[in-house]
Amino acid sequence: TSACLTAIDAADTLNAFVHKTPEVAESQAKSADQRIQAGEAPDLCGIPLGIKDLFCTKGVASQAASRILEGFNPEYESTVTTQLFDAGAVMLGKLNMDEFAMGSSNETSVYGDAVNPWKVDDRQLTPGGSSGGSAAAVAADLCLGATGTDTGGSIRQPAAFTGITGIKPTYGRVSRWGVVAFASSLDQAGPMTKDVRDSAIMLQAMSGFDAKDSTSANIPVPDFEAALTGDIRGKVIGIPKEYRMDGMPAEIEKLWQDGTAMLRDAGAEVRDITLPHTKYALPAYYVIAPAEASSNLARYDGVRFGHRAKLDAGDGITEMYEKTRAEGFGPEVQRRVMVGTYVLSAGFYDAYYNRARRVRALIKRDFDQVFADGVDAILTPATPSAAFGLGEMKNADPIQMYLNDVFTVTVNLAGLPGISVPAGLDAKGLPLGLQLIGRPWEEGDLLNVAYALE
Ligand code: GLN
Repeated sequence: TSACLTAIDAADTLNAFVHKTPEVAESQAKSADQRIQAGEAPDLCGIPLGIKDLFCTKGVASQAASRILEGFNPEYESTVTTQLFDAGAVMLGKLNMDEFAMGSSNETSVYGDAVNPWKVDDRQLTPGGSSGGSAAAVAADLCLGATGTDTGGSIRQPAAFTGITGIKPTYGRVSRWGVVAFASSLDQAGPMTKDVRDSAIMLQAMSGFDAKDSTSANIPVPDFEAALTGDIRGKVIGIPKEYRMDGMPAEIEKLWQDGTAMLRDAGAEVRDITLPHTKYALPAYYVIAPAEASSNLARYDGVRFGHRAKLDAGDGITEMYEKTRAEGFGPEVQRRVMVGTYVLSAGFYDAYYNRARRVRALIKRDFDQVFADGVDAILTPATPSAAFGLGEMKNADPIQMYLNDVFTVTVNLAGLPGISVPAGLDAKGLPLGLQLIGRPWEEGDLLNVAYALE
């Protein structure tokens, strides 16, 4: 813990940790020591972690990287952090992210950009987003693992951009209670770690039924670490042709082929598959996610949480809402709220929101079919490129940024587990990731295939 605290102070330029909590860390580390001396050492005893700012942590600033939650110190602890602390973990602080987890570059944060520890010619690169601080912190060895959340790729894309491992579990595996909501039918928390084994151990502690989350699944949590045998003989790996996009860089194609060859060499059967509705996933996601966000973010009204705008004489409650939300939310969040409100409005609900929901059902059915045909896991690239430069995409058309999520959003729409594992370097020496998608509730199997690829 003290080595990590020193490393964090020395790495301020990465802007990964946005609230440091050395007092919490020291006291948790002391109790971990006592537990070890008492002969009781749970899996994460004394393991120093970083916590994404989206998680409510009792008495510790939890702002979802937004100005609107300035000064919000929750009275309660999220279920995930409670479970991690019960398993002995130590919290070093809160991690940078995109505002309300909306973004793919960590450039929408009220705290400023997080920086990727990987560099090309001294050019600063994004660590990805929205869990950019988590990815940068793990990649730079500021902590041994971090929590992330993934609504459309926010664990897997930053993991790929920083050369680490991250898994989004099956929807319902990890409690959403105490995690600031973005799009409730898509949001899942998961671990971001150096390797697959650490992800298995950390996911174990984060998982399980929670009566406080109405979509939490009452399904037993198997021993994920025990699933890591490295034996994948006879497993069927699907390669979906729809993920071979026009204009895909040759190095991504090569990475995918190398990964396929590795799995085949390890005894897996590789099969070409089709997921015909893939091309509709991104538009459906960018209707459903903003729709749910506009509803979830309605609670930030200047009354109950965080920031309230200064009012002028004569202002009433409407002016208070308007001024507070106009200054409290950044431009990307405002864009999502407006798009979401529009697609849910009476005149457009059927044309956009209901149509997107039907597309979502078709995407899920594509996956169900492939799994019913005997496929155990699906291999795809995690991202269409390696990490890009800070500032490079920020001022472009927002759709350019949304295109980053083309390989990851399908998994959230279908509620499936997906993992990104480091798989090589591009021509400039930057890390690239491969994604594996698994059957629902079979994270153990999925982690094991990822383990064979590592
Ligand atoms: N980049 C996607 C978005 O901005 C996904 C974000 C996430 O998974 N939280 O919506």
